[in-house]
Amino acid sequence: MKHNKFVGAHVSASGGVFNAVKNAEAIGAKAFALFTKNQKRWDAKPLDAKTLDKWFQALEESGIEPKHILPHDSYLINLGHPEEEKLIKSRNAFVDELQRCEILGLERLNFHPGSHLVKLSAKEKRDELRVAEVENACLNVIAESINIALDKTNGVKAVIENTAGQGTNLGYKFEHLAYIIDKVEDKSRVGVCIDTCHMFTAGYDIRTRETYDATWQEFDNIVGFEYLSGMHINDSKPPLGSRVDRHHSLGEGEIGLDAFRFIMNDERMDDIPLVLETIDESIWAQEIEMLYSFIQE
Ligand SMILES: [Zn+2]
Ligand SMILES: [Zn+2]
Repeated sequence: MKHNKFVGAHVSASGGVFNAVKNAEAIGAKAFALFTKNQKRWDAKPLDAKTLDKWFQALEESGIEPKHILPHDSYLINLGHPEEEKLIKSRNAFVDELQRCEILGLERLNFHPGSHLVKLSAKEKRDELRVAEVENACLNVIAESINIALDKTNGVKAVIENTAGQGTNLGYKFEHLAYIIDKVEDKSRVGVCIDTCHMFTAGYDIRTRETYDATWQEFDNIVGFEYLSGMHINDSKPPLGSRVDRHHSLGEGEIGLDAFRFIMNDERMDDIPLVLETIDESIWAQEIEMLYSFIQE
């Protein structure tokens, strides 16, 4: 097979994780993302035997492989939280998320690195050294959080997502991702998920052949394609470098369709989950079909 692409969307798991498999199948997805618990709550009841039975049965019927499923952790978790109590709460919740993946037979957990939450003055924001100092301190905490969590769990890969860099969110530079990976002890259990919207609004252009090639060359030099474990396929409402996180339907936003054409014909994105988080879920089936139609035989 010349092309080996696995496209899907972040589908609802409402009513039970097994429903995510059904929802993925309904839109013709060969990959999908889901929350394995309510993403807006800290606590969740453990996955019971009945739920697990239905999950494994649905998965088998769908033919979708665990490596093409990219669960996303709760938005409440901040692995770089500057306050001890909240950091511990986040770390515990992250371990629980990894364990839920383990129980579900999943191989990777996607998460946003974290936010430093430091209120920098306008003057400090212009001071590159001061910004780097605050960011690196937080990246160290994030790396430590990952090491602690990997120690307490088995097999599941921690997949760090790049961000748009909104507010004090870290992970908007490839250097941030590389910095964290460098400090993770077990390199076999860390990866990255690149979100096209976040990449673009963080300042990495992918709209033309030239910019697409240059951006991914930079990614390979700084992070390395061996760590690419998934992608979020989104167009962007805000412009290049705006550091604002607002997704759009494919072709409706500032990125345009060419970037997605390049991705669908790029072997470096083979065999990983390519997940839509676009804003109109009623057209996900069409978007998936369109992406597959981009593949040139
Ligand atoms: Zn994303
Ligand atoms: Zn986003």
